[in-house]
Amino acid sequence: MSNQLTTSQLINAANQSLLFIAHRPEIVMDRGEGMYLWDTEGKEYLDFIGGWAVTSLGHSPQVIQDALSSQAATLINPSPSFYNKPMIEFAALLTEISCFDKVFFASSGAEANEGAIKLARKYGSRHLGGAYEIITTTNSFHGRTITTMAATGKTQWQHLFAPITPGFHHVPFNDIDACKSAINSNTCAVMLELIQGEGGVHSAEHEYVNELREICNETGLLLIIDEIQTGMGRTGKMFAYEHYGIQADIMTLGKGIGGGFPLSAMLTTDRLNIFDAGDQGGTYSGQPLAMAVGLAVVRDIISCELPLNADIQGSYINQRLHEIQRKYQLTYIRGKGLLIAFDLPNARGSELVAMCRDEGLLLNSPHSQTIRLMPPLIVNKDDVDTMLRILCSVLDSMYV
Ligand SMILES: *Cc1c(COP(=O)(O)O)cnc(C)c1O
Repeated sequence: MSNQLTTSQLINAANQSLLFIAHRPEIVMDRGEGMYLWDTEGKEYLDFIGGWAVTSLGHSPQVIQDALSSQAATLINPSPSFYNKPMIEFAALLTEISCFDKVFFASSGAEANEGAIKLARKYGSRHLGGAYEIITTTNSFHGRTITTMAATGKTQWQHLFAPITPGFHHVPFNDIDACKSAINSNTCAVMLELIQGEGGVHSAEHEYVNELREICNETGLLLIIDEIQTGMGRTGKMFAYEHYGIQADIMTLGKGIGGGFPLSAMLTTDRLNIFDAGDQGGTYSGQPLAMAVGLAVVRDIISCELPLNADIQGSYINQRLHEIQRKYQLTYIRGKGLLIAFDLPNARGSELVAMCRDEGLLLNSPHSQTIRLMPPLIVNKDDVDTMLRILCSVLDSMYV
């Protein structure tokens, strides 16, 4: 059917049968390769959204194609009640490259965070006299299930879909005293992103993170880091916690770990291997197709040294943005590796995103004044130069 339809017929069909969830531009993406996407009109887009910080190896990389086809021909799903080889291999790899000992697999970031929250509550019930409250930060993002929406620090979400899951206490980010005074006998954990991604790319300060670790040590609370956006090389190291030199008790991964395939993970320590049989699970937990893709993606991230590339290209983007900063009155250039943001002189973010898209460049505006860059980790200097040429031409037409 779809091959016969024009783009406007496809858009009509979409409006007829897809539940509305968001305003989308009237284009239909058709094909991807490396740093580029093509729509059904054959228009080419240089992709600095990267499937939302997801396509770490670029679009349709050969390693994912090979992993999918060979695994699909071997074993797709023996049921979650049996072990399978790629599941075992992938868990071993993740524990080898991180400071964690145990892995639980899921399909989405929110689901990994639900697992982290359940594990923290289990720990609270076993070791902290039934404590269940989790301290999270304002402006954070942890997912879209009812419970992860409650964990998320967006004030507009606290009244949506009421009644929301109780047991979350939001404190200002980077404010150690606020966290200290929020701790009470009901608290079992502190949960945060080391760099708030959806919140607009705001980094936790070193001292703050180190003090959080100390407080958790002293009080017996768990430290949970949500590295769904920052993990797997995105920030110039394999995991963002390496920038801080701390070890958390629980870490969640998603987005880039599957290179575009639905895959997430919750990692923890031997000490927290405390779920009873049946407490946690999922039909697709550790299913072979996802495991084979994850293995291939993470092996490729390691062998191609993509965290290093993220660091190098991220520094180059940062330098180039500083060069054009004055001309366009850009402010607050920030981020680490290939998770970068800057602010415009006024609230024209979505306008800039639309104009860049018309010119064949995909960018994201997480807030009206903010532009965020999160390209595939394979991005090179030529791609960055092309991105900046288009961005500057659009900024010229908007501001000069
Ligand atoms: C994207 C994201 C999530 C949610 O992941 P989904 O796969 O959309 O459920 C959670 N936490 C952070 C930090 C994220 O960036």
